[in-house]
Amino acid sequence: TGKFFVGGNWKANGNKESVKKLVQELNDAKLEDDVDVVVAPPYIYLDYVLNNLNKRVEVSAQNSWVGKGGAFTGEISAEQLKDLGAQWVILGHSERRHILGETNETIGKKAAYALNNGLKVIACIGELLEEREAGKTTEVCFGQLKAYADAVPSWKDIVIAYEPVWAIGTGKVATPQQAQEVHAEIRKWLADNVSAETASETRIIYGGSVNAANSAELAKQEDIDGFLVGGASLKGPDFATIINSVR
Ligand code: 13P
Repeated sequence: TGKFFVGGNWKANGNKESVKKLVQELNDAKLEDDVDVVVAPPYIYLDYVLNNLNKRVEVSAQNSWVGKGGAFTGEISAEQLKDLGAQWVILGHSERRHILGETNETIGKKAAYALNNGLKVIACIGELLEEREAGKTTEVCFGQLKAYADAVPSWKDIVIAYEPVWAIGTGKVATPQQAQEVHAEIRKWLADNVSAETASETRIIYGGSVNAANSAELAKQEDIDGFLVGGASLKGPDFATIINSVR
């Protein structure tokens, strides 16, 4: 697999002042060279972050419209994100699936449209607690993966983020073994359903209550190629510790 990858998903957090502070903290932090680092601010701060954050860190949106821009009030299109200079977009996040009601099919279309318009995609998947308890973790994740696979032109600009919904924002991080087990299943699914090359080259990152204290143990797992961090990415020093936990 490629370089270790750490993304910070800021969600709908922050204001002008805190965003300025966080950008400053990230610019001041010492980050391992051998890690791809991406932050995903709210849309309204993308331009500020693109213009003020050290270019060593790439920038992602947290969503994009499903197709070409036009009369879609409140939406932002992939071509607009590309025009602004954003390199990435997070798609299929559990909050968009379960709070905003996005379906596998919509998410697959969004991923294809974003890739075809020059954005790289952080493609999220993950099961609900009741699905895990019913023994359906892999079935759910494979269904979500298939929706991407059926829609996208290629996997070369995709990072898969496995985020078990029960671990997001709950402080209940998956154990390294729990995460490794699902990551290995995802890689096997890619080998069986896409190609051996895609399976070995696609980064599979973990998200859900990752913090500066638990990231090093998770990073040791064979199939964990990075993290997608929510809450802890809002604190520059903690996010830097997580980035530097690959060693
Ligand atoms: P937390 O790190 O706050 O649990 O959020 C994870 C997440 O949803 C990242 O996309």
